[in-house]
Amino acid sequence: MRIAIPNKGILYEPTLRMLEDAGFGMGSGSSGGSLSSKSKNGKLSVLFARAQDIPLYVETGAADVGLTGYDNVLERKSRVKTLCMLDYGGCRIAVAVPKLSAIKSVAQLAGKRIATKMPNTAREYFAKQGVKVELLELAGATELAPNIGLADAIVDHVSTGATLEANNLREIGTILTSTSCLIANEEAAKKMPAQMNELQLAFEGISRAKSLYYLMLNVTSEAALRDVSATIPCMESPTVLPLAKKGEYAVHSVVRADELTALVPRLKNAGARDILVLSMKRVIP
Ligand code: AMP
Repeated sequence: MRIAIPNKGILYEPTLRMLEDAGFGMGSGSSGGSLSSKSKNGKLSVLFARAQDIPLYVETGAADVGLTGYDNVLERKSRVKTLCMLDYGGCRIAVAVPKLSAIKSVAQLAGKRIATKMPNTAREYFAKQGVKVELLELAGATELAPNIGLADAIVDHVSTGATLEANNLREIGTILTSTSCLIANEEAAKKMPAQMNELQLAFEGISRAKSLYYLMLNVTSEAALRDVSATIPCMESPTVLPLAKKGEYAVHSVVRADELTALVPRLKNAGARDILVLSMKRVIP
């Protein structure tokens, strides 16, 4: 199976890590400017391409599958099958103007010039808003354009907002939100469903595991078991295992990483002892 992955940029490192975690690492073959490589297990031929071009590679069948930002799939209007969304490369496509600009809303951009790397996304958005603008397509560094008089506003990716801040820009609208995703050629998806499913389950499982923890704790009475079971969140229902000492139990569950800090004191109050928190490699419900 041929997979296209980004050859540089913000998605490059996390994509290599994802392949490595899924057992498709490339060893030394992934660096040094090489445009193709093979996974060490021999299962994947890896093509390194511009993230923006990957939907095209996949649509045409040059690659069977690809990992890229979903924003690129939308920008290219590619006919591909989206197998799953992943946990990295999160961003929004935003409209921004200089902080000192009198423009406060997207409607006020009528007749103005907008610099962007994503002309299709921008054109469609402004048409839907009924705002006539002039689009200026740039290959990158759009954040510079308003400060040198090249444009009145930009449409670009925003992740943390640090680049907007560094260039004295203010966000006035969000067009869409995006993350990285696994896409497949439509024909290839029909021809090799088992291999596609293998990749999807691996990547999705790895993504999901990053936002969850495995929680283990003990209780030393039936009453504590009842209170802890009522407190602890879980995927289905918590695992309860009797300990060697009669009337004592181990309780295991999977909890969301973002609720862990608030949950621990509640569990202690409910009678939990010896709380252990473990990271997981994959979670497949
Ligand atoms: P930030 O300063 O974290 O808001 O990142 C913004 C800069 O990183 C901009 O130059 C964006 O073009 C780029 N960027 C951020 N996230 C992504 C993404 N998911 N895909 C492509 N470029 C991105």
